[in-house]
Amino acid sequence: MAELLIKGGIVITADKDRRIIKNGSVVIDDDKIVSVGKTEEISKKFTSVGEVIDASGKIIMPGLIDTHIHHTQMLARGIADDVDLVTWIHDRILPYEAALDNDSTYLSAMLACLEMIKTGTTTAIDPGGYRMENVAKALSDSGMRGLISWASMDAFTERRTIPKEIYTTTDEAIKANEKLIQEFHRSLNDRIRVRAGIRIETNASDRLVKEINELAKKYNTGVEMHAAVAREQVEFVREKTGLPVVKWLNSLNVLGPHWLLIHMGWIDDEEVEIIKNKDVRIAHVPGASMKGAYGSGRFGKFPELISKGVTVGLGCDSSAANNSIDMFRAMWQVAALHKEVRYDPALISPEEAFEMATINAAKAVQWENQIGSIEVGKKADLIILNINRSNWIPVHDFSIIPNIVYSGDGHDIETVIIDGRIVMRNRKVLTINEDELLNKAQKAAEKVIDKSGLLDKLKSKWAIV
Ligand SMILES: [Zn+2]
Repeated sequence: MAELLIKGGIVITADKDRRIIKNGSVVIDDDKIVSVGKTEEISKKFTSVGEVIDASGKIIMPGLIDTHIHHTQMLARGIADDVDLVTWIHDRILPYEAALDNDSTYLSAMLACLEMIKTGTTTAIDPGGYRMENVAKALSDSGMRGLISWASMDAFTERRTIPKEIYTTTDEAIKANEKLIQEFHRSLNDRIRVRAGIRIETNASDRLVKEINELAKKYNTGVEMHAAVAREQVEFVREKTGLPVVKWLNSLNVLGPHWLLIHMGWIDDEEVEIIKNKDVRIAHVPGASMKGAYGSGRFGKFPELISKGVTVGLGCDSSAANNSIDMFRAMWQVAALHKEVRYDPALISPEEAFEMATINAAKAVQWENQIGSIEVGKKADLIILNINRSNWIPVHDFSIIPNIVYSGDGHDIETVIIDGRIVMRNRKVLTINEDELLNKAQKAAEKVIDKSGLLDKLKSKWAIV
């Protein structure tokens, strides 16, 4: 007897044929999808199930996969708005991160999990911060699926310093990565994965890049790294190595499909070819780029990368960068940004944006054999949308995916299932005490920001009376 039948909905499978099944049903047993098809046929096959969810008039779709999010930066929402990237990292975020302790890191991660579950994200790809065992605990407690890393840095200059609390040598960074991998990679029924992490190219030595890559290969996992985020990063690396970022990485003989490079708004045509030939995966983060003026839209090659078949996943970035982690906003952003900048209304279709948030996001971290689509044998990570809402009507067969991308939002999500478990039902999150968490997170954020010494820089522009 199967455990759960979701019946009578519009099933967006994101399978190979990109089928959308009207009056469709999905059957889940344990953590897996065991059947997908027309309700009529499924009802005959599965006459007895543990629980039935009626999805009539609703959409059943794969849970969204955010290819770039920072669990540990949730308490930093609002502390780094409207500043350039070097200021953002070194004057705001690193002092904030240095002020985190285990409790505040956990609360930050739980807040991320809560926002993601409430807006339909079922897998989070986090290139890391520190105290990441608290993030693993939050993923465990909330029921989320996630990939985490430890963000290594071992090279520093005067303008790119790092607080002593999170300073490491190359050896210490490698050791911290290995420990995280050993402890959590493929844990909790493979709900948590760990990759080796390099924070950003401007704080990484050649040796760190090579050894992190070796570590990833040793544990059959991948590498996460922010790269070519903004012009100054690329210029910095060119000054140091004589090469732009991708060519520098390529010269170290490390690149391959196990690499996820994040942001990547500043690459040249030859680097596009290297990425294509090496099958390197990319995380595109349009919201952070637009808000932080990174230049991904104006100078990036994302339409070219996508048209050449490079795997590009979509990400929100942290709530200190974007500042929302609702993937529906990210889908809208990516489908709109390139149209405006290139003066071409056909660039990045809603279907492409949807793929970037589901099946291509899974491919971006080599997880597509388990997640990213609704197919038999895959993990049961899916979401149910209530579309009988003012932002959805009218909806036609031709506008189901466009409505999701152009007019949908995270609050359309009614029910969320991760690894076969219902974690949100009718908008009530079952794994988190929401009121208690919000209250604790607010207090923890106030404490951390106070401790970070940033309060002097953070004054309301308008009088608070
Ligand atoms: Zn990031």
